[in-house]
Amino acid sequence: MKRNRRAKIVATVGPASSSPEMLKKLFLAGVDVFRLNFSHGSHDDHAKVFNAIRALEKELERPIAVLQDLQGPKIRVGTIKDGKQQLKKGDKVRFVPTGENGKLSNIPLHHPEIFAAIETGHKLMIDDGRLRLTVTDCGKDFIDAVADVGGVISDRKGVNLPDTILELSPLTEKDRKDLAFGLELGVDWMALSFVQKPSDIEEARKLIGTKTRLMAKIEKPSALEFIEDIVPLTDGIMVARGDLGVEIPPEEVPGRQKELIRICRLIGKPVVVATQMLDSMVAAPAPTRAEASDVATAIYDGASAVMLSQESAVGEYVVETVEMMNSIIYKTEHHSAYDQIISALQPDVQKTPQRVLAASSAAIARTIGAKAIVTLTSSGSTAARIARQRVAVPTLAITPTAAQARQLCLFWGVQAIASPDIKSYDEMVDMARLHTKRAGFGVEGDKIVVLAGIPFGRPGTTNNMRIVTL
Ligand code: ATP
Ligand code: MG
Ligand code: MG
Repeated sequence: MKRNRRAKIVATVGPASSSPEMLKKLFLAGVDVFRLNFSHGSHDDHAKVFNAIRALEKELERPIAVLQDLQGPKIRVGTIKDGKQQLKKGDKVRFVPTGENGKLSNIPLHHPEIFAAIETGHKLMIDDGRLRLTVTDCGKDFIDAVADVGGVISDRKGVNLPDTILELSPLTEKDRKDLAFGLELGVDWMALSFVQKPSDIEEARKLIGTKTRLMAKIEKPSALEFIEDIVPLTDGIMVARGDLGVEIPPEEVPGRQKELIRICRLIGKPVVVATQMLDSMVAAPAPTRAEASDVATAIYDGASAVMLSQESAVGEYVVETVEMMNSIIYKTEHHSAYDQIISALQPDVQKTPQRVLAASSAAIARTIGAKAIVTLTSSGSTAARIARQRVAVPTLAITPTAAQARQLCLFWGVQAIASPDIKSYDEMVDMARLHTKRAGFGVEGDKIVVLAGIPFGRPGTTNNMRIVTL
């Protein structure tokens, strides 16, 4: 169960992965954070999965995080006759604002605002841009289009309209209901889709408070424009390449990915790289070379986590996909060029005492070959500062609450343990020794670096570092 890698794995739960047995297999194969996509499935479905994850956590005595992904103002087609229809280049298609079970002559698109705003000549893209159409005629209750690129159109696939201007609210009615439901369940992270501006985050934060951590999905050009103001307001971001790669030209996505990871490393917040990472494994037991390379690139860039979507939600090789992702991360982090690449991208140390101390403890741990950096952290911020350094030494974060321990599952290199408040310095050192051995990171005689604040229990006082022999 011990992870021998630093970057984390997020996996979307869907029909192929929602049983308790499957969730356990996936956790053991390497999943650190399970994503519940509220674009799909009912509240009941999600509650079942959530409870199964909490039961698993209890059984395995390891914190496991749940990320609730809110749909946001995503445009989707309705249901399709027989679940899917084949669309060939040159085929004519009609979209209508009502109905379900549509054929190519009446595909449901329950978004009246689109019918008001779309114009002849506009592009319409379906399923993360796989299918492409051009509007040939439109009215208030129909859109006629011709397929430029065909493919399969299936139930509830996403639609992008790069030419059409629509007024988007970051939190739809459905999102507000889902958000309240998620808070009641007690999810650990909440992801906000289609963020466009800093006030979108503030609006969500008002509803969420500090109960769960808040992640901004970066998938709109305007979010890129305001990114410097957005990141400080969030607890982390997702490079949501599915929609991003349709909203901006695909050739710009790799550069943007690097920029976004860089900003998060600089500020010290988690960054998740998502979509199509091992896409061909939905239907094949091995990835393409390009996909393996894509995962490795995100790891070399210093992403905190990489994510699986369809691969783990509906794939035929769900466990194999997680195992593959785990091995690619492991191989990359253990490659001889890794240290050099990741530290070349290392941002400067920020000049506050806490940050300098975190950076020094990371450097010392590396130099003396310590088996772990152990930190007592009540808000999680000391763990975040160590994670920012991206040193190849595991960080054990001992934190007072189970909720905090789960939230830290997304942080690069951090393994969290919930342990009630420690009263004295000696108790802290004993606890660090005990947890390092129990977690399997070190044995008698090994060295660890312990970082904590004295007096205890007062957040923001991290001021003490000690090298301890087990
Ligand atoms: P998003 O824009 O939020 O990523 P998406 O539709 O691309 O939405 P993913 O979670 O990225 O969704 O991919 C999972 C795919 O698995 C979906 O496109 C959908 O076809 C399928 N699926 C079916 N049921 C579920 C479910 N309960 N949860 C997640 N995905 C599901
Ligand atoms: Mg999305
Ligand atoms: Mg997706």
